[in-house]
Amino acid sequence: MAPLHFAGAQLVEQRSPKPPVGGLSPSWSATLMEIAMASTKFDDLSWEFKPLALELVARCMEAGICVKIVCTRRTLEEHQQNVKNKVSWTKHCRHIDGDAFDIAPVELLKIPDWAPEHPKWQAMGAIAKGIGGITWGGDWHRKDMCHFELKAARRIPAIQAV
Ligand SMILES: [Zn+2]
Repeated sequence: MAPLHFAGAQLVEQRSPKPPVGGLSPSWSATLMEIAMASTKFDDLSWEFKPLALELVARCMEAGICVKIVCTRRTLEEHQQNVKNKVSWTKHCRHIDGDAFDIAPVELLKIPDWAPEHPKWQAMGAIAKGIGGITWGGDWHRKDMCHFELKAARRIPAIQAV
């Protein structure tokens, strides 16, 4: 199978080979690095998750929460780099299958760590639950507020990657 095209990653590579780190906290600079490497295209999501992701963004906008698509699909190499950068800790990342995406309220992007206690995150989590079929990283023990993924039960086993 031909490798997926990641326009976002190429664009950033041309602009700056290194992420900006001056004066930023390690976690914030790591987040910037994560943004720099990932695809932000809905078309890179799996066909099962894409309609849910599109609806979540639309419902957030409808509720007055303007969101930025931080990341959709990641390559295995990008995930391994994130583990090295300590912005990911999972063995198998759902982004690799296109079954997860990260979105964040635009107004929180300039705040270090994106203000995880901000009520807009809870509002986005509630919207995702209203749509159904989506697991929100904000509900996890180790919270990942911007992360939304296809519920494992919605994955159709017959076409699951081997
Ligand atoms: Zn994520």
